[in-house]
Amino acid sequence: MAVKKVLVVGELNVDLILQGYRTFPTPGREVVVDDLVTTIGSASAICAMGLARLGRPVMFLSVVGTDQWGHYCIDALQRAGVDASRVRRDPGLKTGITVSIASRRDRALVSFLGSAGALRSEDVTDADLSACDHLHASSYFLQERLRPGFADLFARAQARGLSTSLDPGFDPGETWGRDLVDTLRAVDVFLPNEVELFGITSECNPEAALRLLENGRTRVVAKLGAAGCLTLDRGHAVRVPAFPVDAVDTTGAGDSFDAGFLHAWLSERPIVECLRWGAACGSLSTRGLGGTGRQADSEEALRLVQSAP
Ligand code: ADP
Repeated sequence: MAVKKVLVVGELNVDLILQGYRTFPTPGREVVVDDLVTTIGSASAICAMGLARLGRPVMFLSVVGTDQWGHYCIDALQRAGVDASRVRRDPGLKTGITVSIASRRDRALVSFLGSAGALRSEDVTDADLSACDHLHASSYFLQERLRPGFADLFARAQARGLSTSLDPGFDPGETWGRDLVDTLRAVDVFLPNEVELFGITSECNPEAALRLLENGRTRVVAKLGAAGCLTLDRGHAVRVPAFPVDAVDTTGAGDSFDAGFLHAWLSERPIVECLRWGAACGSLSTRGLGGTGRQADSEEALRLVQSAP
């Protein structure tokens, strides 16, 4: 079977993690932290880099500014083995940045979205789609200009024979519009976490929420943090627990989960195995600071998958 290539369409930004505060900063005060980690952020990039780390061919399509941070993002993708030739640099935009003020217990995030909201459905050409076998997108609510075109983009991908997946990400406005549920009609795999699933369905039992989203087409996989993950298979609930790890930072665990799940799903593995690959990649990614520092390679993930009872 030929190895399927993934097209990831989405936002790019840099994460500046200020790690280890003793008192949290308040207006008019300065505090000193123990460490500074600069890393590529964004759900889409973390998933793309997770897929590349597992050995899957990945092309990334996005837009950044011509500033140093745009250069940083492209360089990070390329070093991870992701094809970044379709990341456009726009001199009229500033690349987005998230500053995370973090301790082991908690963190506060300040984001400037910048170029993250600039991508449009028309930026993805038919040639881009034809060059790949699967389309993945993340951060439905953050990508303001892409949002009205998501349904069209997924429908175009399907018409060209690609399979499709979507991770909604959080909605900062917490309105969780109905348009997302309509978009799912052209999505094969939908990957919300628990908060997102509850927001989208207004239902706070994961299994009941999954039943509300059943549309006869979309496989919905709920990511439940340290409690693992859940899907419905022919109407039956299938649960896989998380693999216990000494988590340092859970940033981006859900995006690494997506990479593991999709890698197995595109290789047509049975559903329980796909869930285990997701859980293994999610759990292993929490070993390091930021979303991409310690993502699993395929040997590490397989070892964990095979350790499942
Ligand atoms: P998100 O990062 O989108 O909020 P989750 O927190 O549900 O998503 O994490 C995705 C997956 O990563 C989980 O299903 C689980 O397998 C793994 N994971 C997350 N946090 C932990 C943790 N503290 N310990 C072990 N595994 C974890």
